[in-house]
Amino acid sequence: MDPTHSTTILIADDDPSHLLLAEAALGGAGFVVHTANDGEEAVRQFEPTQPDCVILDVNMPKMTGIEVCRRIRERADGRLLPILMLTGRNDIVSISDAFAAGASDFAQKGMNPRLLVERVRFLLRDRAMQDNLWSSRSKLLLAQRIARVGHWELTLDGRTLDMSPVVGQILECDSQPMERYESFVAMLDPAEQIQARQAFIACATDNSRFSSEHRLRTAAGKDLYIHQEAELVQAAGSAHAHTVLVTLQDLTRLRRAEDAVQTLSYFDSATGLPNRRHLLEQLSIALKDRKPGIALCVAAFRVHGLDRIAQAHGAELADKILSEAARQIGEHLAEASTGGTLLKQANTARVCRTSEAGFAMLVPSRESVENLSDLIRTALARVSGQPTNLGTEYLPAVSAGLALVDGDTTGAEQLLTNAQAASEQAREPRSCELFTPVPLARSRRRLAIETALRRAVAAGELQLVYQPRVASDTLDITGVECLLRWEHPQLGSVGPEEFVPIAEETGLIDQIGDWVLDEACRQLASWRARFEDNFFVSINIAARQLRQSNFASHIKAALDKHRLPANALEIEITESSIVHAPQETRRMLEALRREGVRISMDDFGTGYSSLGQIRRLPFDCVKLDRSLMADLYTDVGAQGVTAAILAMTRTLRIRSVAEGIEDPESLEMVSCLGCDEVQGFYISPPLKARDFADWLDAGGAVVLARHRAAAIAIELEASKIEVGPALRTADLP
Ligand code: C2E
Ligand code: MG
Ligand code: MG
Repeated sequence: MDPTHSTTILIADDDPSHLLLAEAALGGAGFVVHTANDGEEAVRQFEPTQPDCVILDVNMPKMTGIEVCRRIRERADGRLLPILMLTGRNDIVSISDAFAAGASDFAQKGMNPRLLVERVRFLLRDRAMQDNLWSSRSKLLLAQRIARVGHWELTLDGRTLDMSPVVGQILECDSQPMERYESFVAMLDPAEQIQARQAFIACATDNSRFSSEHRLRTAAGKDLYIHQEAELVQAAGSAHAHTVLVTLQDLTRLRRAEDAVQTLSYFDSATGLPNRRHLLEQLSIALKDRKPGIALCVAAFRVHGLDRIAQAHGAELADKILSEAARQIGEHLAEASTGGTLLKQANTARVCRTSEAGFAMLVPSRESVENLSDLIRTALARVSGQPTNLGTEYLPAVSAGLALVDGDTTGAEQLLTNAQAASEQAREPRSCELFTPVPLARSRRRLAIETALRRAVAAGELQLVYQPRVASDTLDITGVECLLRWEHPQLGSVGPEEFVPIAEETGLIDQIGDWVLDEACRQLASWRARFEDNFFVSINIAARQLRQSNFASHIKAALDKHRLPANALEIEITESSIVHAPQETRRMLEALRREGVRISMDDFGTGYSSLGQIRRLPFDCVKLDRSLMADLYTDVGAQGVTAAILAMTRTLRIRSVAEGIEDPESLEMVSCLGCDEVQGFYISPPLKARDFADWLDAGGAVVLARHRAAAIAIELEASKIEVGPALRTADLP
């Protein structure tokens, strides 16, 4: 832009001829000119004319030019204005007074008016440059403040020459700027101080530029991440002198954001434990740095029944229990490493959460795998069943699996998978299993089953088979137990003992159980109509189904849909599924029983059995587990247990059923001991619906009853022969 464009000049002089000449010259050069004949008039005119430059004669009546200059400088809009003083030749006193009052420059009175114009132009250009510089500096400082970057200029021995305000703000010392670089060094972590000092000295002496990042604590106690860069620069205005220019940047916000990202990706948000990814990275590093003589082992831990706790009390409690178990096991193993049994681990090798109910850790050791397993078993025993203050009385049991690095191990992922597969194999609470390749094949099969099971109902791959239950004396049919069968195109036939637990764990049992209930009721309704018989159907119910809030209404809906009375249905429950059942489950079972639905306890006489449970819950029937029947004929112990159970059921007026009857001897035995009903291959294996109808058509177990009568007759006959010829039937009259 043309600096003379509508630029206004105020000129004050008491000499009219000077004033006229100057006015003409400046006006001719394109300036807008205002004149004043004395000092007071100049002051008066300043406000309305708002000049870009003022020219003042030093000696004027009423008020001197020097006084006018001082007054203009006192105003906010006059502080940076160019003011040119006109003084007499060699009037040194006036010149120095004028500068003291704030004049920008001086010129001789009566100078060539064209020269005056040039002098004014120079002053205006100088002002414009100063404005630019000022605005650039303000912008720079603003940018520095926003970016939290500041500069700091120091002498070679570390004394402050200049420090931008941002440095003071960052380091929280703006009230008292730091005098030396050493004050900054004192804020650093002691371990970093020597290095920072040496870097500064090397920069000052050898011109070696440096950049470094530090964690520091300000005098006010704030923790910061700082990046500093330093280099040797030429001091302003000197060709030889040098200073050290340090830039400091506050990276705290950036680093905190990075830390948060790191935390999110490497830690489990629910427990705060490092996560699977964290462990895998630790494993990868450990695998790369393997040392001879040190066995690398991954221990994976599984908390039993955590899913049940989550369902009953919420995921938050389950997470707390897991992290408490992880903490205690971690501590126990850390103690072992302090005692020298295990090798000390880096801080980073910690217990990590690796699944919903599992955690794992890397355990480097010089121990044999047997000793390691023993050590882990001790840890498991210490933790399992410990009292807690978490809202559950005791910590649930934990079991573990170990996987060792060997020649076949391909990587971290595989090692962890192996350890987890071994922990799945450790079914017993507090047990520890070593990984062998078989469990992996099993765990792959488990995954394949889980995946295929999701489609099984919709794909019509599930079927029910029916096994009759008969009265032990007449062998007349009383009911029929329906049992699931699954035929998968690739996996082949998968037994319920394999897939039902998987369906339970994955929750698929809800959908499958609904299908079984509906299908069993539909089938029974059609048989009842066809055979005019009132036998019932019994279905097996998984623990998880019992916890469904709408379980009872599902049962009622299925009975209503197929127009069956409540006593046409029996539900079989195993004792283990109700041991920890909450009050609501018990109340729901009582309500169902009041409606008329039969309830039986399945698999009684196995590990979990408690006679007390039978008394406390509303059972109609107890089914004696087939393991008891296997040795009944030869094992006195099995006979004693069976007799005791049957005596108890009789006292409590509960019906008894012996499962797994495979031969006539067992049938006789349980019948003699007073068992009410029997079920087993000897009566009939589980049959497809059509085969079951054929079996009923052919008279059911009547054929067996005839055989049985014949056998009894023969035995009686034999016993008479032994008594003696006098009693032989043929000899009777
Ligand atoms: P369970 O309820 O105790 O069923 C009896 C099991 O014994 C059946 O095995 C049956 O085939 C078998 N069995 C019957 N008679 C004899 C015999 O004389 N000798 C021998 N050795 N075994 C005999 P299956 O069908 O393999 O079922 C196994 C278990 O799977 C069942 O035990 C039950 O707990 C579960 N299950 C089967 N179907 C279902 C179902 O629909 N839902 C649920 N939740 N569980 C089911
Ligand atoms: Mg059963
Ligand atoms: Mg059973």
